[in-house]
Amino acid sequence: MKRIIVAIDGFSSCGKSTIAKQLAEYAHYTYVDTGAMYRAFALAVKRGLVKEPIESIPADLSITFLKTDHGQHVCLNGEDVEGLIRTLEIGNMASEISTIGLVRRFLVAQQQQMGQEKGIVMDGRDIGTVVFPEAELKLFLTASPEIRAQRRFLELKDKGEEPLFEEVLRDVNDRDYRDTHRQESPLRQAPDAIVIDNSELSKEEQMEKIINIFLQHIQ
Ligand code: C5P
Repeated sequence: MKRIIVAIDGFSSCGKSTIAKQLAEYAHYTYVDTGAMYRAFALAVKRGLVKEPIESIPADLSITFLKTDHGQHVCLNGEDVEGLIRTLEIGNMASEISTIGLVRRFLVAQQQQMGQEKGIVMDGRDIGTVVFPEAELKLFLTASPEIRAQRRFLELKDKGEEPLFEEVLRDVNDRDYRDTHRQESPLRQAPDAIVIDNSELSKEEQMEKIINIFLQHIQ
């Protein structure tokens, strides 16, 4: 059986990372959450490690992953920052800095490096179109904005934040708009991507469907 690259793209909060993680575990592949890299970069900006307006990136800025007992954690200059990046504020900053070509080129180059050996499941917005246009399997996940806002609302509450549903829904819609309308690598469905709308699918149904598709692609 061949080892392949699985590219998973789609809108925010449609469960890409859960699916990508589970598929990587099933296949014994490496999982890469590219959204975490944009979030870590946003944290670097917030900390003043990257100066605004962003016209250059410090040569020693590093965004890497660390394998832990609780899954992969993203690190900024060697510091595990996983616990700091999953907030609404950093999410919005990440969405903004991800429109900058210089930032995208910096992160895309690292992502391409990580896929050199194949055996990788990578999720993001531009994986099947820009990072790995030659990926053997491309999935494009989608769900309605209301369902995605509801999922994110519950996630934030779980983390102890006190979000307002209307605000979360507005954020989801704003992010969708920015992701699909930016000049640099806008979120697009690759022509050869398999679309999965999970609005009406349970996690188990979705996983079963994706594992079947995966198995057909590694023969
Ligand atoms: O997926 P997540 O919500 O963690 O991503 C944070 C932000 O980073 C997104 O809103 C999106 O704008 C950006 N992003 C991107 N390209 C990727 C992954 C994430 O532009 N490959």
